Amino acid sequence: MQSCGAGESAAHRLFEQKPPLTLFVVAHPDDEVIAAAAALMHLREKALVLHVTDGAPRNMADAARAGFATVGAYAQTRCAESRAALALTDGVTLLDGLCVPDQTASRSLFEITVALVDIITGTAAELVVTHAFEGGHPDHDATAFAAAHAARACGVPLVEASGYFDDGAGMVTGRFAQPEPPALVHTMDENEQFTKRRMFECFVTQTQTLAAFETTVELYRPAPPYDFAKQPNDGRVLYDRYDWGLRSSEWPRFAVDAQRRLQPLSTRRIVSRADRYHWRAHTLQFPRTPADPA
Ligand SMILES: [Zn+2]
Repeated sequence: MQSCGAGESAAHRLFEQKPPLTLFVVAHPDDEVIAAAAALMHLREKALVLHVTDGAPRNMADAARAGFATVGAYAQTRCAESRAALALTDGVTLLDGLCVPDQTASRSLFEITVALVDIITGTAAELVVTHAFEGGHPDHDATAFAAAHAARACGVPLVEASGYFDDGAGMVTGRFAQPEPPALVHTMDENEQFTKRRMFECFVTQTQTLAAFETTVELYRPAPPYDFAKQPNDGRVLYDRYDWGLRSSEWPRFAVDAQRRLQPLSTRRIVSRADRYHWRAHTLQFPRTPADPA
């Protein structure tokens, strides 16, 4: 492993001998493997993965292209692909996802944040890993927003793993859009690369998408304090090139509205609201300790 100028940071804790219980909060089934396969392999039973969306846009474009007749069948298959990939780590737990419709997470920032506070509290996660806020996909930015606000409310450190963004000429992978803060660059050994390629092969519906991504290095760093009220990446927004459910000009309104609703709530009151969204942590599939809140 190498670091490019980063001191010991929350990102280094992912690869410690006795790592913290870590919750990976990602937008879509496959993002956890794209961004953080090496950390998942190292953490094993200390890793929990949560998908915010079901991976199935309601316009049926992706589902039809993959040969599915219904959104539900496509969503189920994407979840099963992720479960099969994570099984190769022999220990990572895939939590019940939030099942937000793909491409709509930016319209539910408040509700997703409430759910994440409840899940961080319920699982006693000690570290959270998520996307960078860099305009790659609107669901990634929405997940970054919710993870940042939830981790802060719970007092849990937040790490981001690299994904993809627009550098002005098109999609870039394998690094972050903004150079700061410095990243931990994890160079994958042969075993890790082999396993990551096998994990990718589990995502049969995403073969074309995954061809764009590295299986040699992964970047992790403490999440910087983003101004979510602005458009990401100084307005260079990859999803504006596509019809992925949001224009970047719409983003600030959703972010500011969610921050206005979250601002007066304490962590305790956020957790008490989670019942309304049917995302209580007691639906998650792993044992609780007696000390956990009921
Ligand atoms: Zn994604």
